[in-house]
Amino acid sequence: MPKTLAEVENVSTSNHRDRIEAPVLSNVASTSNDRKGITPNALIEVENVSKSYHRNGLRIPVLEKINLSVPEGEFLALMGPSGSGKSTLLNLIAGIDRPDAGNIIVANDDVTRLSESQMADWRAHHIGFIFQFYNLIPVLTAYENVELPLLLTKLSKKERDEHVKTALSVVGLSDRMKHYPKQLSGGQQQRVAIARAIVADPTLIVADEPTGDLDKVSATEILTLLERLNREFNKSIIMVTHDQRAADKAHTIRHLDKGELQ
Ligand code: ADP
Repeated sequence: MPKTLAEVENVSTSNHRDRIEAPVLSNVASTSNDRKGITPNALIEVENVSKSYHRNGLRIPVLEKINLSVPEGEFLALMGPSGSGKSTLLNLIAGIDRPDAGNIIVANDDVTRLSESQMADWRAHHIGFIFQFYNLIPVLTAYENVELPLLLTKLSKKERDEHVKTALSVVGLSDRMKHYPKQLSGGQQQRVAIARAIVADPTLIVADEPTGDLDKVSATEILTLLERLNREFNKSIIMVTHDQRAADKAHTIRHLDKGELQ
C-alpha cells in the first residue's frame, strides 16, 4: 500500500543536502511557505524566442519572437493546433533544443548559453519529463526505471532506494515496484513515468500530452496526480495538451497558433 503523505514528507525531508542538491520533493515545505504572500518570481522567462527548422533546403518557421513569463508554482497548459510549435517551445524551455534567437531563462539560468554538457547536467538537475507514450525502459522494473535518473547523482544505493520508494509511494505504486512496464496498465505506466520525473526533485515538470494515450479514467487519475504535485508539492508544471479537460485542470491556459502565443 502507498505510504501516507506524512510518511512521504518525513522521508523526503531527511537530510541529504550535502550529497545531492535536490532531494526528492524536499522543497515541499520550504519553497511553498517561504513564498506565501509574496508576488511569485518568474521561474521561466522566454524572451523574443524564434525557432525554425530546415527541411529539403526549405526554412520552416515555427516560433516567431515568442515571449512568455511563468511564475514559480504555476501549472500552465499550452494548447494549439497540431504542428503549431507546442512541443518545440516545451523542448526549448526544457533545454532539449536551442532557439535561433532570443533568451530562455529558467531558474535564473540562461539555458541558451549553456554548452551541450552543461545543458545535460542542467536538465538532470532542473527538469522532470513526462511523455505521451511514457518512454519507460521495457527491460527494467518500475523501481529500476524510477532509479535511472538518480544513477547520474552521487547518492548512495541506500539513499537512491529511499528516493525511489518515496517517489513510487507519491504516485501510489509502492505495490508495483517489481513489475515490468508490460505488466502495468497505461495509467500505471504513466504513474511510473511521473515517479521517474519527480525522483530527483526537479525545479520544473514538463509534460507533453501526458494523457494523450490514456482512457478517460486513467487520464483523470494522471491529471489529479499532476494537480496534487503542483498544489501539495509546489511543483511548477508546463503541460502541452490537445485535451480541453486536461487544460481545465491548469491555472493558466495559453494558445499557440501560427507561431504566436495568445
Ligand atoms: P506541435 O507540438 O504543436 O504539434 P511541433 O512543435 O511538434 O508542433 O512542430 C512544429 C512544426 O515543426 C511542425 O511543422 C513540425 O513538422 C516541425 N518540426 C518539429 N520538429 C522538427 C524537426 N526536428 N525537424 C524538422 N521539422 C520539425
